[in-house]
Amino acid sequence: MKSFEDLGLTEDTLKVLKRKGYEEPTPIQAKTIPVILAGEKDIVGQAQTGTGKTAAFGLPILELLRENVKNVQALVLAPTRELAIQVAEEINSLKGKKKLSIVPIYGGQSIDMQLRSLKKGVDVVVGTPGRIIDHLERRTLRLGEISFLVLDEADEMLNMGFLEDVTKILENTNPDKRTMMFSATMPREIMRIAERHMGDYELMGVQKGNLTVSQTDQIYFEVSPSDKFEALCRIIDIEESFYGLIFCRTKIDAETVANHLIDRGYDADALHGDLSQGQREKILNKFRKRQVNILVATDVAARGIDVRDLTHVINYALPQDPESYVHRIGRTGRAGKEGTAITFVTPEEYRKLQYIKKSAKTDIRRATLPKVKDVINTKKQRIKSELAEIVNSKLQDNYLEMSRDLLSGNSPDEILAALLQYAFHGEFDEKSYTEIEDVTSVDNKGRTRLFVAKGKKDGLTPKKLVDFIREKCGVREDKIKGIQVLEKFSFVTLPFHEAEMLLEHFRKTKKGRWPLITRAKEGKKK
Ligand code: ADP
Ligand code: MG
Repeated sequence: MKSFEDLGLTEDTLKVLKRKGYEEPTPIQAKTIPVILAGEKDIVGQAQTGTGKTAAFGLPILELLRENVKNVQALVLAPTRELAIQVAEEINSLKGKKKLSIVPIYGGQSIDMQLRSLKKGVDVVVGTPGRIIDHLERRTLRLGEISFLVLDEADEMLNMGFLEDVTKILENTNPDKRTMMFSATMPREIMRIAERHMGDYELMGVQKGNLTVSQTDQIYFEVSPSDKFEALCRIIDIEESFYGLIFCRTKIDAETVANHLIDRGYDADALHGDLSQGQREKILNKFRKRQVNILVATDVAARGIDVRDLTHVINYALPQDPESYVHRIGRTGRAGKEGTAITFVTPEEYRKLQYIKKSAKTDIRRATLPKVKDVINTKKQRIKSELAEIVNSKLQDNYLEMSRDLLSGNSPDEILAALLQYAFHGEFDEKSYTEIEDVTSVDNKGRTRLFVAKGKKDGLTPKKLVDFIREKCGVREDKIKGIQVLEKFSFVTLPFHEAEMLLEHFRKTKKGRWPLITRAKEGKKK
């Protein structure tokens, strides 16, 4: 397996990746980054959604762009406004200290605002085809001196009928640029564009391979991201003897989850790629001996772990692709013992789960999270049976002596209650668990994703956004979901009715101007 260090990236970029918590390049990144950096060939890259294609072209392009250049240096075309924004955000987050300006340009946003940023000078434009054509026709965008052109989600752009626009844009660019096309599928039209508009290109695919899934019982829970931790605690608490691996996407997440677990009194540890071989062995040994019964790991760190008889594998974060799903859950249910694989899915990830399910040809049942009452009852039951077991074996004399002593001055039920309180301080308290939002009760189609034309740079925070929306139309806080505050924009999901109220409000108050809140054009991932 290649590491980011092997790909020819600069120290600065490696630092950025470390900060972002990316441990290892995805297969498509490992393939494209060195080729793009080498500076010769064009690229057609095929890989499924969620495999990190943005960084696959974003990282090497950022490395190759120069600072203080007057003209646009790179154009990325994306099919929808939301994708254009996401891609621009991701590239922006990868640029490190380099002075480069990356701007999304899409229909729906006011042309004036875009003109202002284009005038100031932009290095990377991430745009939807329609709006790029608008700017080309107004001569407010010149693409005659670009170094890179990327067609992102090319199949999707064709599906949306952008072939003509894309061709036109290609014809408005200088022939000596380098062109890259990324797509989840490779229909014939895509190859035709490559033949016609690209130079010497290399086709890079990531093979899907054959997938087989073990006998593990597979279930999933729909939870909002902020409720994942609480859900995890309930799952662990309701088990007789939980012994499991919890998978996170980045090492930062793995450490955070492990630390929260430790804070809450669990025997947990984190395993990630930053540990020395010695540290790693030590942690694994503790896990094998069950001194630690919960190991929170990244895919990379978990590779090659040979631990048997896990009761659970938990996908705290959805795996990157079907292969890694199969790989992760293959660690439970071994040696004839039944294991459970649990996957947390946020409403936004639901489609990706369906894709994993289909590709891995496996059945993943939907289940509901245990209720706090049930968790507490299970705990009590467990203590009862453990106490009964101790009574049935042999009680030690010194305990019996102390017991008689205590009973001489108090009633048995009082002294026993005091003892339980002393031993299980707070454990049966419903308040030690927090509410979990029922995202499953929300009809997928009944909700509206909204676009908010303000972001972090305007001082917006998720809390401020929630307060603002509540103040504007009295929506209950628990109905405000999927909050995403990005640099310049934000997104939020509301039930249909409330969303309509809010949209109506802004249509009324902002006559003539582009309203602050509008319907988000949904990308295919949503
Ligand atoms: P795609 O375009 O292939 O659908 P994206 O570029 O949108 O995928 O990436 C999907 C997610 O994976 C993003 O949240 C991104 O930040 C994350 N990601 C990308 N590369 C890595 C990596 N090497 N390690 C961990 N996470 C990554
Ligand atoms: Mg993408």
